[in-house]
Amino acid sequence: MSNVCVYLVGSGPGDPGLMTVRGAELLAAADILIYDYLAGETFAGRVKPSAELVYVGKKGFSAHVTQPEINALLVQKAHELESRGGGSIVRLKGGDPFVFGRGGEEALALAAEGIPFEVVPGVTSGIAAPAYAGIPVTHRGVASSVTFVTGHEDPTKNVSALDWDALAKLSQVGGTICFYMGMRNLELIARQLKDRGVSPDTPVALVRWGTTNAQQTLVACLDDVAQRAREASFGAPAIILVGPVAGLRDQMRWFEDRPLFGRTIVVTRSRSQASTFSTQLSGLGANVVEFPTIEFAEPDDFGPLDAAIAHIERYDWVVFTSVNGVDAFFGRLAAFARGDVPCDASAVPAATARCLRGDARALADARVAAIGPATAARLRDYGIIADAIPGQYRGEAVFDAIATESKRCGIDLSAAHVLIARAQVARDTLPDLLRAAGAQVDVAPAYQTVQPVAEKANDLVAMLEAGDVDAITFTSSSTARNLMAMLDGSEDVLRRTQLFSIGPITTKTLVDAGFEVTAEAEEYTIPGLVETLVAAFGRR
Ligand code: SAH
Repeated sequence: MSNVCVYLVGSGPGDPGLMTVRGAELLAAADILIYDYLAGETFAGRVKPSAELVYVGKKGFSAHVTQPEINALLVQKAHELESRGGGSIVRLKGGDPFVFGRGGEEALALAAEGIPFEVVPGVTSGIAAPAYAGIPVTHRGVASSVTFVTGHEDPTKNVSALDWDALAKLSQVGGTICFYMGMRNLELIARQLKDRGVSPDTPVALVRWGTTNAQQTLVACLDDVAQRAREASFGAPAIILVGPVAGLRDQMRWFEDRPLFGRTIVVTRSRSQASTFSTQLSGLGANVVEFPTIEFAEPDDFGPLDAAIAHIERYDWVVFTSVNGVDAFFGRLAAFARGDVPCDASAVPAATARCLRGDARALADARVAAIGPATAARLRDYGIIADAIPGQYRGEAVFDAIATESKRCGIDLSAAHVLIARAQVARDTLPDLLRAAGAQVDVAPAYQTVQPVAEKANDLVAMLEAGDVDAITFTSSSTARNLMAMLDGSEDVLRRTQLFSIGPITTKTLVDAGFEVTAEAEEYTIPGLVETLVAAFGRR
């Protein structure tokens, strides 16, 4: 079986960024993904659309797929792939596959069947969870060893696979003992060590859901850790770290100190636009809840845009007023190049030359304006560097920027052809100003925004009612209007949280609807809004 390979890949301890580069590459290329724990959901989104996903974790509420069943499944799937001509299987495992992950058993099952496999190590939770809690597992002058131990087995049973005397000895010279799967036996573990002379004052750190935004850490000592864990309802999954290094957390903690740690922030942007914003927020520690209030759809009529594309060479200026307008324009241009757009043959000769490939060369002779840095950045993705980017997000400012640049490069605005590719419904300030200056302006709707079906609104309402939301962010007037519409009568629940607005127009929409806005971004951009949230929530 040379055309099939099973990769046993460690996904890391929880933070999706902690998977190795090799693991991520294999995941993206996998034909079949087999995963078994919830964090796997994050990774399931990273496979190619045609990949088959097999979840082997909890079935319903109780029974797990057993290890022999998983071993057999790996073998079966490998044979299936072979009969389809080959491919790759990624078997994703939390942390490192060979550290208390039963990856060894899976490798043995594959080896026994002669199925090729490779192992991609992962960042193990026993090291990563302490690191995110600000605890180095070894530290010069403090701990010269770290021992990884299963805490799963009952320490009081007669024949233990663990040498508790040896563990106690290591601990007595400062060595770090790191228990996996030990929360249920916490009290017994502490007693085993104390009974063998380990000081009851020895620091112990418990790190739960390490490296995720739900991470919790409790530092106690051997004597009181079990009681304190009980009081705090501190349960699995957690690493139990015994040793003086746990005392270093006070000076080295960082993860929970990020400005938005533990804050739940709702992002109301469209799904396609949310990701950069969400990534920035979660990078600062926030739990991000995406509740898209906007979806993008085709405009009611592509006619004006198609006509513009067919004569693209005539424009002196092409203006983009949103990231989405850029995507929609180039999407339509590509469709045009593929011949998917019905168009009047008499219109085409020059256009076919310009639009043959549906790429940036279609705009080779035009000047290009972008309303702001995000739109300009998206244009760069298509290979275009904007000629005019105003300092402010207003029609007047765009006009000024176009006028200035026109003068600089000798375009007579009063004789210029301008194309504005934008949303179906938008303000007319810019076209009016350009027309007043004598330009011939074509406004071409490239997309329209629509309100999604409000199926998930109940979940959001429940979270708001429970006081579980620290902030809702509004990145445009439509996000505000649509959210209120989607709440359909329960809008008052918005008073249970803090509302953050990207700028004055959005703020006005909220205030006009009778809501109080906690803060408005100083710079009307996503980074500006992030800054505002950080200022509001600050450090804990
Ligand atoms: N192969 C995994 C360990 C699997 S055993 C690894 O290398 O990390 C499962 C145990 O790992 C849990 O009981 C818990 O002790 C630990 N664990 C896994 N993920 C964790 C996390 N994010 N935070 C703390 N402990 C974790």
